[in-house]
Amino acid sequence: MPLDTKQLKRLLSAVEDTREDEIHCDECLAGMAEFAETQLVGMEVPAAVQRIQAHILTCPECTEEFELLLEILRSSSSDLP
Ligand SMILES: [Zn+2]
Repeated sequence: MPLDTKQLKRLLSAVEDTREDEIHCDECLAGMAEFAETQLVGMEVPAAVQRIQAHILTCPECTEEFELLLEILRSSSSDLP
């Protein structure tokens, strides 16, 4: 028996529910340098990196890590001629 529209919609919304945009700290840390780069050069944050940005905004631990990383990147780039 083929799926009717109602079943299909339910199925699709279930898929959407599981496709959370939230990521975990380890994923955030893994992509953090990439996000930091975008902040340093003032470029637009790519869609893939927006999840990292969103996590940093909601996670105090990652915010701390991110600020440290920015400090390091800023001080090392200021050494450049
Ligand atoms: Zn985190």
